[in-house]
Amino acid sequence: MTGLSVPAVWRGRIHRYRLVAGKCNSCGRIHYPPSHSCPHCGSRGLAEVELPRMGRLVSYSIVYSVPSESRSKAPVILGLVDLGVARVISEITDAGPEDISVGMQVEAVFRRITEDGETGVLVYGVKFRPVKEA
Ligand SMILES: [Zn+2]
Repeated sequence: MTGLSVPAVWRGRIHRYRLVAGKCNSCGRIHYPPSHSCPHCGSRGLAEVELPRMGRLVSYSIVYSVPSESRSKAPVILGLVDLGVARVISEITDAGPEDISVGMQVEAVFRRITEDGETGVLVYGVKFRPVKEA
């Protein structure tokens, strides 16, 4: 059983509480979440950039088959969000399938992602929710 250690959660919290991506110094592409090397060109020269918190929903899929510990949340909506400088895949929250449409404006929010049963550590992360447009 692989639990989440408190130090690992703590180290990751900066990236989870801000919408930080990695920008490749070689090819200029932006990746979210950031990784140690560029998935496009393999360069290890990456800089951190903070992404805009508002974007548009480009595409989405509704996932009915979710892990058993998250079954009470099903279905889960996974969205491809265009933030202008980058596109990210994230869970869409505070909305049901009937509330979602391609092109709608969404904003980043922090939500509980998981609770580790053994340590009780709550892991929060970025999700996106629809913005009510006037
Ligand atoms: Zn690159």
